[in-house]
Amino acid sequence: MKAKFATSCTSCGDKIQPGKEILKDKDENWVHKHCIDDSDGLP
Ligand SMILES: [Zn+2]
Repeated sequence: MKAKFATSCTSCGDKIQPGKEILKDKDENWVHKHCIDDSDGLP
């Protein structure tokens, strides 16, 4: 989904700007979509 507000990515630590594609990780934290894609935590 697209961010509706500014927050911080818990994966890379960068700011997430409104309008960026974001996802929730397994711990319910918002991260960039590309940060989830880079994760090796997926089965
Ligand atoms: Zn990130």
